[in-house]
Amino acid sequence: MDPLNESELSADALDLVARAAPGYLDALPDRPVSDPASWHRLAELGGPLPEDGEGTLATVGRLIDVGTATATHSLGPRFFHYVTGGATPAAQAGDWLTSLLDQVSGLWAASAFATEAETVALRWLKELFHLPESHGAVLTPSATFANLTGLACARQWWGERHGVDIAAEGLAGLPRMPVLASGYVHVSTRKALQILGCGRDTVQVHARDDAGRIDLAAMDRALSRTQGPAVIVGTAGEVDTGDFDPLADLADLAEAHGAWLHVDGAFGLFAAVTPRLAHLVDGVERADSVASDGHKWLNVPYESGFAFVREREWMRKAFGAWNAAYLRSGDGEERIDYNNLGPESSRRARALPVWATLRAYGRQGYRDMVERHHDLALRLGDLVQRAPDLELLAPVRLCVVCFRYRPPGVDGAELDALNQRLGAELLADGRVLAGTTVHRGMTALRPAIVNWRTGEREIDLLVEVVRTIGARLSG
Ligand SMILES: *Cc1c(COP(=O)(O)O)cnc(C)c1O
Repeated sequence: MDPLNESELSADALDLVARAAPGYLDALPDRPVSDPASWHRLAELGGPLPEDGEGTLATVGRLIDVGTATATHSLGPRFFHYVTGGATPAAQAGDWLTSLLDQVSGLWAASAFATEAETVALRWLKELFHLPESHGAVLTPSATFANLTGLACARQWWGERHGVDIAAEGLAGLPRMPVLASGYVHVSTRKALQILGCGRDTVQVHARDDAGRIDLAAMDRALSRTQGPAVIVGTAGEVDTGDFDPLADLADLAEAHGAWLHVDGAFGLFAAVTPRLAHLVDGVERADSVASDGHKWLNVPYESGFAFVREREWMRKAFGAWNAAYLRSGDGEERIDYNNLGPESSRRARALPVWATLRAYGRQGYRDMVERHHDLALRLGDLVQRAPDLELLAPVRLCVVCFRYRPPGVDGAELDALNQRLGAELLADGRVLAGTTVHRGMTALRPAIVNWRTGEREIDLLVEVVRTIGARLSG
């Protein structure tokens, strides 16, 4: 069936989604995060490619039915796995509008509206995080892409120091780019380096303990020994504990050794929005590049990330100048082509939900939310410390709480196996979701609290579910 024959159904199809929304959203606070018993319905997605098509409304209706039943309801307040934000009301509506308008947003000439929204959203983000307004910036699909963006600029800078324009000529003939980090470095930095041809295993880790905390003196010595310029990667918000590298010290090291400092602040950069926590990111304003996420603590729908680069010129050098006649840019300071500042070409207008949420709730709204989540993390840490069968494994810094189930008399490998089973049972149970990690050799839970809907009720439920399942498994 040619879609042209159903053209009058466009609004009806959107209306189906809109009509499914109230029931879905209203149920979120009380329904389990996931319902494995519903997954048999995933079979309804299958079958051969239809010859003639099922038609607009039947198809959209089916997708709504299967989706609302089988999806992971991470939009709700009980999802603590990974670092997963929800979507604020304004952000979610902004995201729907993004689909309605379907802008291609990398070129000013293709959408002045999307470009302007991105420019404003990025300026507001710099204000929110107290980053200099002169920084270059671009929206990306994720923090992984934001790390890729920052490290591509670092690589371009590093190449020029060796007399090579890497964007034009590639890496052939150059030595390995030295990359130094603490043990807090996130896998996405390795992935970015792997994509960039720098190699994911080239990261030199300088840690002074098994938690991965930085050994500044060792890093300083290594930088002194390094031939030519180097890249330092700092982490603001480590995934297992929410801890921070000392960014001001890293900025000092970078300055002393003429290195590039990249900071991965996927969720930790949000410490900057409240005076209570801003000291944790002191020095981030001195970094050469900074990566962060919108779909985590900004509570913007997937996908959303942002990269900031002190000297915008590196973005243009790393990503611009493709010289395709049909993509010729209007350029200039006013008419930015974001294609030329980041890794994507065609891209959706992901600025709209970012713009909407910042406009709707403002600096104070985000400050309130981050402080509330910090309070909730402290509450969880407190509940853990007071429970005889739970053990807090790291101080609560921000929004992540690292702990394990530890009934009296269980130790060593048996304890790790118990916590692994507990993690698996939590996923199967579905009332709350949290995942396991390995922290300092110990299997642990590491719930992250970044969803705007989450409150004390959900924190208490998490503790209750963990203790009930733990008792059943060890009883
Ligand atoms: C989540 C995270 C990333 C990767 O972010 P994506 O948005 O999943 O690509 C990178 N670094 C840190 C510290 C993170 O927590």
